[in-house]
Amino acid sequence: MLSVVIPIYNEEKSLGKLYDRLTKTLSKIDEEYEIIAVNDGSSDDSLRVLKKLHKQDSRFKVVDFRRNFGQTAALAAGFDYAQGDVVVSIDADLENDPNDVPKLLDKLDEGYDIVSGWRQNRWVGGLLQKIVRRVPSEIANFLVRRVTGLELHDTGCTLKAYRAEVLEHVELYGEMHRFVPAIATRYGAKIAEVPVNYQPREFGSSKYGFSRTVRVLLDLVLLKFLLGYGTRPIQFFGLLGVVLGGLGFVFSLYLTYVKFGLNQSIGQRPLLLLAVLLMVLGVQFVTMGLLGEIVMRTYFESQNKKIYAVREFLD
Ligand code: UDP
Ligand code: MG
Repeated sequence: MLSVVIPIYNEEKSLGKLYDRLTKTLSKIDEEYEIIAVNDGSSDDSLRVLKKLHKQDSRFKVVDFRRNFGQTAALAAGFDYAQGDVVVSIDADLENDPNDVPKLLDKLDEGYDIVSGWRQNRWVGGLLQKIVRRVPSEIANFLVRRVTGLELHDTGCTLKAYRAEVLEHVELYGEMHRFVPAIATRYGAKIAEVPVNYQPREFGSSKYGFSRTVRVLLDLVLLKFLLGYGTRPIQFFGLLGVVLGGLGFVFSLYLTYVKFGLNQSIGQRPLLLLAVLLMVLGVQFVTMGLLGEIVMRTYFESQNKKIYAVREFLD
């Protein structure tokens, strides 16, 4: 079965059209399907529209949040409630084209675990508007490619298809929904990208401003750490601690020699301060690494998580 997940925050005007286009495409696919609409605390009439659609169509399911939890939470809830073995996520504002869904599914059938949309002709509007929107996006995508090593052109595109078993491994926090493919590579998922249509939104307005860039960058730092050292924090903090502390130790040895070997006073030397600072920092980093190890073990062991992922076991 196929599950289509839609995060919705104040999209009352788009929903009818979205439903019509989506069901038209899905009915052509030779597979059972369900649509899971997650109402993320909308303050407009979205919920009423969703309830109406649910009454008409038993395949249209609605998850109604108590308040606005954000797009990542909405998608995570949709993934939790989805029963299909393939899950497609799509924006509610019709910026993604439902007609692209079959294309994603075909690619998935070629043996991929996640297929991500790559929005074509996304930069519309006047020159200034284009620059203001495009430059941060290109930089963010470049950084994401560098950090994750995953060659995707458009990480921000919500239109994606996933194998449900891959999603099981992926927990989402913050603004992480855009990094699902990157997180999934940690479990060995195979990722592909296909060009998809892009249409500027007709109704309502974007829910994000410039501050998103900062939040995405912070999430990227976190992701880099989790992907690289999530299961071995001591090696990250420990190395830092040993290098800094070691440097401080060398300085203090030198100062000891100056004091007792050369019989000069060292009380006024800035190097003394630096040496002490570095040694304290070094101890702190090593300790932080040890704490990280304990936290990490609690996380894995209390939830019976594995530090590996098996595709198949032949016995
Ligand atoms: N969305 C949501 N909760 C939020 C913000 C957005 O569920 O707090 C939904 C929104 O309704 C839309 C999708 O996430 O379906 C993408 O949001 P938007 O179109 O505003 O983002 P943009 O396309 O500007 O990146
Ligand atoms: Mg949008």
